[in-house]
Amino acid sequence: MPQPGELTFAVPRGARKPPRHLADLTPAERRDAVAGLGEKPFRAKQLSQHYFARYADDPASWTDIPAAAREKLADGLLPELMSVVRHISCDNDTTRKTLWRLFDGTLVESVLMRYPDRVTMCISSQAGCGMNCPFCATGQAGLTRNLSTAEIVHQIVAGMRSLRDGEIPGGAARLNNIVFMGMGEPLANYNRVVGAIRRLTDPEPDGLGLSQRGITVSTVGLVPAMLRFADEGFKCRLAVSLHAPDDELRDTLVPVNTRWKVREVLDAAWHYAEVSGRRISVEYALIKDINDQAWRADLLGRLLKGHRVHVNLIPLNPTPGSKWTASRPEDEKAFVRALEHHGVPVTVRDTRGQEIDGACGQLAASES
Ligand code: SAH
Repeated sequence: MPQPGELTFAVPRGARKPPRHLADLTPAERRDAVAGLGEKPFRAKQLSQHYFARYADDPASWTDIPAAAREKLADGLLPELMSVVRHISCDNDTTRKTLWRLFDGTLVESVLMRYPDRVTMCISSQAGCGMNCPFCATGQAGLTRNLSTAEIVHQIVAGMRSLRDGEIPGGAARLNNIVFMGMGEPLANYNRVVGAIRRLTDPEPDGLGLSQRGITVSTVGLVPAMLRFADEGFKCRLAVSLHAPDDELRDTLVPVNTRWKVREVLDAAWHYAEVSGRRISVEYALIKDINDQAWRADLLGRLLKGHRVHVNLIPLNPTPGSKWTASRPEDEKAFVRALEHHGVPVTVRDTRGQEIDGACGQLAASES
């Protein structure tokens, strides 16, 4: 059966598939795969230990596995999925963006952000994006392809290794939060994203042992997939990219709104809040004279009040050649006050990483 999202947004045909990797497989599938390579099934656990608990994908370091078996296992289950094209840093090197080249030459990016009390990583779920939001750099280039589960997971494994090895100033650290806010629409790549969440949250050594509470899935509002995500029992944070409270404007800013309207998207969000027990994050990029009027702030407040929700206002990060820019400070303040007037919790997102185009697919866009 095609999945919600996958049914609607077809991926270009003829693309080669990424090589099979340990992180694509469940623990049971890993045992079968190892047996298929002619090795004892318990080697699957050893490989998982090396990859998910030690972040060690160099076969030379697998000293508990006979040398003769290492290459075969590495070729069959831990092929190189991606290589670093470059890192660029800002904020005294505490924000680091990585541009990755995948096996077929496709480029994607991830961003590590270290704060005094936590570390957040922003990852990509697709190469490009098919949602075509006009203010987003990734949206302009269209969708290249879905990332595999392992291509999603490996961005995080690489980030955790960098943190453990003290590559980010401030000493060795652990990753606290993961946000699916890099390239792509995660719910349009539902099965692989869900597979990645399982790998991230399964206890070591089956997975990375992270908590669902620290994972944020951000969506344009693919209603059937949102409902499915709720009903499958996920407890991740769900962020909804609303950007307008009225269908007329949202049809333009988030074109998938022509299919699922503001009301349907919010109803699906409230269902997720109800089932998961988690507060919804509503994302709203403030765009000068486009969506920042007092009446829209008031309408947004009326739609959200009384619900389990938090609004994240994001000053627009202008994309190259765009005529749009961030709201005036006084309009931003008035927008905040209007939401507060309705008792809706609101914060303005800090705009870290702007000088390295950390917000929205601009680096990979400028490369290709
Ligand atoms: N496709 C998903 C996740 C990726 S984008 C989604 O749309 O939710 C993560 C967030 O960054 C979204 O809220 C998106 O609308 C926002 N965003 C994209 N481009 C932006 C820009 N130029 N300025 C500010 N926010 C932007």
